[in-house]
Amino acid sequence: MLYKNIKIVLKKRPVGYPKEDDFEIIREDISELSSGEVILEVVWLSLDPYMRGRMSTAKSYAEPVSLGQVITGGAVGKIVESKCSNFVKGEIVEGFTIGWQKYARITSSKLRKVDEKIAPIQTAVGVLGMPGMTAYFGFFNICKPVPGDTVVVSAASGAVGQLVGQLAKISNCKVIGIAGNQQKCEYIKKILGFDEVINYKTENVFKKIRNYCPEGVNVYFDNVGGLIADDVMSNLAPFARVAVCGVISQYNLTEAENGMRVQRALLTNQASIEGFLVFRFENKYEFARKKMATWLKNKDIIWKEDIIEGIENAPKAFIGLMKGNNFGKLLIKVV
Ligand code: NAP
Repeated sequence: MLYKNIKIVLKKRPVGYPKEDDFEIIREDISELSSGEVILEVVWLSLDPYMRGRMSTAKSYAEPVSLGQVITGGAVGKIVESKCSNFVKGEIVEGFTIGWQKYARITSSKLRKVDEKIAPIQTAVGVLGMPGMTAYFGFFNICKPVPGDTVVVSAASGAVGQLVGQLAKISNCKVIGIAGNQQKCEYIKKILGFDEVINYKTENVFKKIRNYCPEGVNVYFDNVGGLIADDVMSNLAPFARVAVCGVISQYNLTEAENGMRVQRALLTNQASIEGFLVFRFENKYEFARKKMATWLKNKDIIWKEDIIEGIENAPKAFIGLMKGNNFGKLLIKVV
């Protein structure tokens, strides 16, 4: 059978914020399968901030997407053809390299089976996938929370942030979330149960942190970097732990931004700061996935998604993600 693919490729390397004409939609037929490969119909595509780094040639932990190549990305799909004994037609799978396309011809070793009974299948790229694992290991293994700690998390209504705050509440910590509009702030306080919220676009982050954290910040889970991070780092408690998860405020800069010199804050507070990439914990994912699934089932964790329909809308949705238009985990519903 012939599959008519729609794929989104990188046409130009974005300068500053990506624009729609940095991308191109290409229609083509999927060719014959080789042994060990499957064709899958993508059902859910995950849009994530790290993709901005893949569009650039700046030095990073992963190779950039080449011009003309499909934008790489995690997705959940249904197998429609298989030349691999481990996968049969109809199975639901998740993979990190499926990319922005309607059909993917892919080596089966890059796929993981998704159990449809545990949770809606798109959670395989959300709370039970990469963002969930990032929140789990970043918070427990890097931040090392202690009950009673005051925890600050930025991009707090996003995929990772909404989970970090809830994991902190499960761990009996006080949580302050930082987000970019009133609706997001109200949600994380009223629905997710964060103790305090700061709208960084309308409030003075430094003063608010000082006010909400009179004894200082024990844990900062940094999703954004930049000025927000400087304001939190200026309010650390003795022996604070800072996890650098992401620096989204820097991803679209065309010139490096000057910021705080953090050494004094680290020294005087005997604090530590550690960057991490979630893949470091890959061999422990199954353990964390089970824990997150139980919390989700018992409603100890609530999971918010922001769903946009149609693969053609991926570029626009991704540009919106870079500007904070998403409210929750951003997904494209392809089918
Ligand atoms: P997300 O929160 O769902 O979406 C990004 C959010 O960042 C936006 O909605 C926006 O919310 C906020 N934002 C955008 N520009 C900003 C700016 N200039 N200053 C402050 N906030 C800004 O994304 P996510 O998937 O949870 O990822 C969060 C961070 O974690 C990203 O930096 C990402 O690269 C990183 N990450 C790292 C790993 C790892 O392995 N280390 C894995 C996954 C994700 P507001 O409305 O609140 O501004």
